[in-house]
Amino acid sequence: MPNPFEKYNQDRIVILGSGGARYMATTQYRSTGGFILQIMQGKVQAHVDPGPGAIRDLKDHKDKVNAKKTNYIFLTHEHNDHEMSIPVIVEALQDDMEFKAKKGTFVAPAGYFDVKKYFFKMLGRTVQMQAGDSVQLEQGLSVTATTASHTDSVPNIGYILDIGNPGQKYHYKLAFTSDTEPFPDYVKTYAGVDVLVANLLRPDDVVCRGHMCTDQLIPMLREIKPAICILVHFGRRMDNEIDGNNVPAQVTKIQKAVGKQSVIIGPDDGKVIAFADILDKLSKQT
Ligand SMILES: [Zn+2]
Ligand SMILES: [Zn+2]
Repeated sequence: MPNPFEKYNQDRIVILGSGGARYMATTQYRSTGGFILQIMQGKVQAHVDPGPGAIRDLKDHKDKVNAKKTNYIFLTHEHNDHEMSIPVIVEALQDDMEFKAKKGTFVAPAGYFDVKKYFFKMLGRTVQMQAGDSVQLEQGLSVTATTASHTDSVPNIGYILDIGNPGQKYHYKLAFTSDTEPFPDYVKTYAGVDVLVANLLRPDDVVCRGHMCTDQLIPMLREIKPAICILVHFGRRMDNEIDGNNVPAQVTKIQKAVGKQSVIIGPDDGKVIAFADILDKLSKQT
């Protein structure tokens, strides 16, 4: 195994909200604030799917995230639990509170920017993508849009980020799947990804159309073999005030099924996941 600190440096994810879908969005029992990606030695800080709660979460986690450092937003699809905080995030990341200068890159599915919204003019750049498209966002950061099979009502994509430069030690792939049910090329799409952030709405075999449950994910993870798999977007069946928290049991189940090839993480809100730290700790255990 290459030295994880050379491969991933200090790159990390801060989970603002680990919840998803209607129950979590409307109750905030788990936040639906999405997550923050901090990579490339502080050069890139990205919000991914900041749904309801994200702004409040930024206040709670200001020791981990400086909102002014955000320069990217990635949106997978225009559902409330993924999108709702974006206008305020765009305002929050501006250095100039009179909004005269432009700042930030916003990457979203094709069609999203067709309906003009007032905050688009504050952004430095908007990037529209369809599954299969690849764009170099800057030196050492490229993005490829992937298929997501969720609902037909809004365009929906996942993303694979290629971080660092091929041939150099600091180089890896990180993907987030968006809301999706299993589709024929899921394994092929995400094979070779080092850090996979997979939306997992439901436990065990509790299938939900357009979403993923544990028993559907396990066989695919076995083949994808990411070094780290971070589960997010937990719904009511995963955690609620009557039945309690089912996430740890699901993490144990998946970890057992995939074995040592991947570290499975089922984070709580506010969790900081530093990739190299996790892999380094693991290598010292074995
Ligand atoms: Zn969702
Ligand atoms: Zn959705």
